[in-house]
Amino acid sequence: MKLHLASLGCARNLVDSETMLGHLVKSGWDITQEPSEADAIIINTCSFISDAINESIDTILELAKFKKNGNCKQLLVAGCLPERFREELAETLPEVDFFLGTGAYDQVAHILERHPARNKQICLLPNPEKASFPETDVPRISTSDTTAYVKIAEGCSRHCTYCIIPRLRGKHRSRPANDILHEARLLVQSGVKELTLVAQDTTYYGKDLFPPSNLAVLLTQLSEISEDIWLRFLYGHPESIDENVMKTIARHPNICSYFDIPIQHASNRILKKMGRNYSLDDLRKLYDTIRTTIPDAALRTTIITGFPGETEKDFSILMDFIQEIRFDHLGVFTYSDSNDLPSHKLPLPVDEHTANQRQDLLMNQQAVISAANNQEHIDKTYPVLIESRESDNVFIGRTFFQAPEVDGITFVSSRNLKLGDFVQTRIKNSFEYDLSGEPV
Ligand code: SF4
Repeated sequence: MKLHLASLGCARNLVDSETMLGHLVKSGWDITQEPSEADAIIINTCSFISDAINESIDTILELAKFKKNGNCKQLLVAGCLPERFREELAETLPEVDFFLGTGAYDQVAHILERHPARNKQICLLPNPEKASFPETDVPRISTSDTTAYVKIAEGCSRHCTYCIIPRLRGKHRSRPANDILHEARLLVQSGVKELTLVAQDTTYYGKDLFPPSNLAVLLTQLSEISEDIWLRFLYGHPESIDENVMKTIARHPNICSYFDIPIQHASNRILKKMGRNYSLDDLRKLYDTIRTTIPDAALRTTIITGFPGETEKDFSILMDFIQEIRFDHLGVFTYSDSNDLPSHKLPLPVDEHTANQRQDLLMNQQAVISAANNQEHIDKTYPVLIESRESDNVFIGRTFFQAPEVDGITFVSSRNLKLGDFVQTRIKNSFEYDLSGEPV
């Protein structure tokens, strides 16, 4: 039986998709990239913001066509969309046969086998905290040969007023370190060269374990697997990142000095309304400490514009702070309102036009900063992880300061490089977001 899976949303969702594929391959399904050939189609969805909700629904309707024009007999929608909208979603999407919540990924093979032919929709929406981590005896179907995301925890115990995730994923649960190490070793043995640690809040790792642990300890254990790999973490939190993590990164060459820490805003007034318990001064101290500990540290962050109550003054504090820190990478989203969010009740909503205008102003400022930061790499030599071939004499790769999928890339001029190799590359040219160079 053939199966096609479309994975939407964040890196954490991709791990869930790869885990579902593992369960299905283990029970005899073949994976096809061609939806028209598939006997069953799965869409692993996202519902974090309204754009993601729209993309999920568009993808479902698009792939549902294969129930008429293809082999598809079973259409399954999994993840954050059914978790957020539950049975209400089933009514609006009659073409879908199964809805699987975030607590039931490990049931996917079972549900497709047990219900080959049915005349009513089936919703499996257990408590999200029932979600199991990737099992060590289920093969992880990695969607890349060179890089893989490793989930180190699930859920979130914070209460940011604009965020639905704690409701969709439950409270923070750290994954046992032995399971993470086991999966990491298998991935490295299979040839993967970069492991990117993900969770809702990676820097909160281990605080709920008995005995307690932390991200610095986990990174140290993982760095002992091989010197010839890169380790990286995404989705840190300003409140839970500490000097221990910074010093651990400074000590281990195979841990990328890369800090992805979404700050969301820089105005104390807005941070308070967002339920973020840190201030502009705290952020200054944080980036100061990072740059003192690791001078060439790469910094990524994410920002929300148009949050209820955001004034021109709040926004200019934000613009000034982004200019002051000069992040290497910046993601900017406009606030996405919904009546199931605490922030929905906040006064003084910001109109969409203003929110978009502020997003553009920030991104235009960042384009200038990014181009200037990239120029500083010219004539420097870095190991580049080669990931694909662009043309006869150009390969594509990334340096330690370029994370997969979200940051710029590096073009390497050569006729014969091996995918998965780290190639010492001298940077010759820089662009707004990308770089180019030659092997040395
Ligand atoms: S820390 Fe992140 S995942 Fe947790 S509630 Fe805040 S925004 Fe959502």
